[in-house]
Amino acid sequence: MTKKRVLITGGAGFLGSHLCDRFLAERCHVIAMDNLITGSLENIEHLFHREDFEFYHHDVSKFVHVSGDLDYILHFASPASPIDYLKIPIQTLKVGSLGTHNLLGLAKAKGARMLIASTSEVYGDPLVHPQTEEYWGNVNPVGPRGVYDEAKRFQEAMTMAYHTYHGLETRIVRIFNTFGPRMRLDDGRVLPAFIGQALRGEDLTAFGDGSQTRSFCYVDDLIEGIYRLLMSDCVDPVNIGNPDEITINQFAEEIIKLTGSQSKIIYKPLPKDDPMQRQPNITKAKEVLGWEPKYSRNEGLKPTLEYFQNKVK
Ligand code: UDP
Repeated sequence: MTKKRVLITGGAGFLGSHLCDRFLAERCHVIAMDNLITGSLENIEHLFHREDFEFYHHDVSKFVHVSGDLDYILHFASPASPIDYLKIPIQTLKVGSLGTHNLLGLAKAKGARMLIASTSEVYGDPLVHPQTEEYWGNVNPVGPRGVYDEAKRFQEAMTMAYHTYHGLETRIVRIFNTFGPRMRLDDGRVLPAFIGQALRGEDLTAFGDGSQTRSFCYVDDLIEGIYRLLMSDCVDPVNIGNPDEITINQFAEEIIKLTGSQSKIIYKPLPKDDPMQRQPNITKAKEVLGWEPKYSRNEGLKPTLEYFQNKVK
């Protein structure tokens, strides 16, 4: 039987590299593509010896060529932390818009099924809680997060248009906060920031008064949800995330306890448009995909902490 051929953009990133592992485990031939602006070869170093793995150093905002057949394309290339997309706003807009258009064109040419990585950021600072897929969101297009949020909203619209107009097979996953090994220690997101600070004995920087909430999903659960969505026939967006919601203050305390650190919590100004609450409603994922998270935050934090301990050393 010939292997399914899968293109994973952002393949050297946090989620992209875990997807490479998963599709190789499913006996697919994996082509990872990344411009390495926020991704790292370290995340896929263990795959280069394999004959069923290829890596292309390429920016998908430019024309994308892949020779041979493709069965699936998973578009995961994008800066994904608020610090990153503040630093590189134009690239963030381009990879979500031009990059998505290029890949949809490629999917159409190859007759491939395309899955795009969307985000809970499409809900902005949500006025509906928890967030269901039916909620249209509360996004500031010209605020600092606009470059990411609007690129992702455009990406969803473009993907849906290729589905309705060209009959392309498409899937849209709305990813909520996810954590695990291979996150970048310096990407500015709350989990690497807190773990890094705790391990170095520095104080943990909570933004605002720390009362804002997030709901953190362990990466293995997320990858399973994405895989199931790709294999399903669900064209409408599906939330994948862990509904276990906590405040940033509680999260800081958890990290201090877990690391056995003497660090205290200190407070810094809340970044503009920082969502006050976020929790996925995963009813649809349960019903359509038979999926729900299996790992508690505490179970996921163990391997994550081990990973960061090696990095901080
Ligand atoms: N945050 C914080 N301290 C940090 C980094 C982030 O208190 O050092 C807060 C941030 O203001 C936000 C939450 O943690 O309310 C999650 O931030 P993150 O950047 O991880 O992702 P977001 O969910 O905002 O996209």
